[in-house]
Amino acid sequence: MTCAAPTARAADLLDGKAFALQLREKVGALARDFQARAGRKAGLAVVLVGDDPASQVYVGSKGKATLAANMNSFEHRLPDDVAGEELLALIAQLNSDPAVDGILVQLPLPAHLDEQAVIAAISPDKDVDGFHVINAGRLSVGQAGFVPCTPLGCMMLLTDRLGDLSGLEAVVIGRSNIVGKPMAQLLLDANATVTIAHSQTKNLPEVVRRADIVVAAVGRAEMIGRDWIKPGATVIDVGINRLPPAGGEAKGRLVGDVAFDEVREVAGAITPVPGGVGPMTIAVLLRNTLVAAHRNAGIALAENAL
Ligand code: NAP
Repeated sequence: MTCAAPTARAADLLDGKAFALQLREKVGALARDFQARAGRKAGLAVVLVGDDPASQVYVGSKGKATLAANMNSFEHRLPDDVAGEELLALIAQLNSDPAVDGILVQLPLPAHLDEQAVIAAISPDKDVDGFHVINAGRLSVGQAGFVPCTPLGCMMLLTDRLGDLSGLEAVVIGRSNIVGKPMAQLLLDANATVTIAHSQTKNLPEVVRRADIVVAAVGRAEMIGRDWIKPGATVIDVGINRLPPAGGEAKGRLVGDVAFDEVREVAGAITPVPGGVGPMTIAVLLRNTLVAAHRNAGIALAENAL
């Protein structure tokens, strides 16, 4: 979904907020159909360990969004010092609970817990975050599984804007398991010519200037300036960075990895921060949960409808 640019020169805004709202409405309608066919609601279990304020906000908004999409939300809050065995026992219980279609463990976990072991304990068929190695492997070899929510949301915005990505040059900056690598895989599957850049990449601005599609997933405020961008490129800004408070502000502004105002003068289209990729992540989580519910119940769903 694009909004008309206010001036002839400025890039179009890729309105992730509006796109995500539409996706959530579609998921909600299909979740009602699922309930009628399966005789139960789809269900998402979210596990939060500790009392990190940002994580509490994320978990709260995921719960509300799940209920608003006609699905059950099961929240499990565990203390900061919970033993690893207790967390693994909860995951085992959720794996075998037929009312639970998707399981999400809010990251990061406290340092004494082994994040990889926790992710590995989630049934791959309920791993709606797509972080399990089985799902990473399925994505890599082109089998149906679960794709991490943020890169799948970016792909939806890209295909909505550009249609066929075949032959386009794409540069993904960042190679994390949750954003950069799956993003690159999805672009490759869509027949783009993909470069993955990272902290050791030489001549990064020059590499990025080749790109028709730039996906920035770094975590460095406004690192990407206008002279990095090929005129007309489509720019997806995954980064979420808080600037230090300025001039009487209680909290600093949220910005992306892209210097929005200057890049907007040269790009063809760009996602804002906030209101771009962020809202897509939660909408795709709901989408993945609904897909999991259909698979778990053996009910057909035209997944490309979502
Ligand atoms: P991450 O695990 O910290 O990975 C950052 C990547 O950026 C790494 O691959 C790193 O390279 C690379 N990098 C760091 N400095 C660089 C530099 N100067 N030049 C080029 N590459 C550099 O982060 P992440 O989890 O992927 O998240 C990235 C950003 O996206 C963060 O701001 C995060 O908050 C945001 N995010 C947003 C959403 C959303 O819903 N919108 C979801 C997830 C993440 P090396 O591998 O060489 O270290």
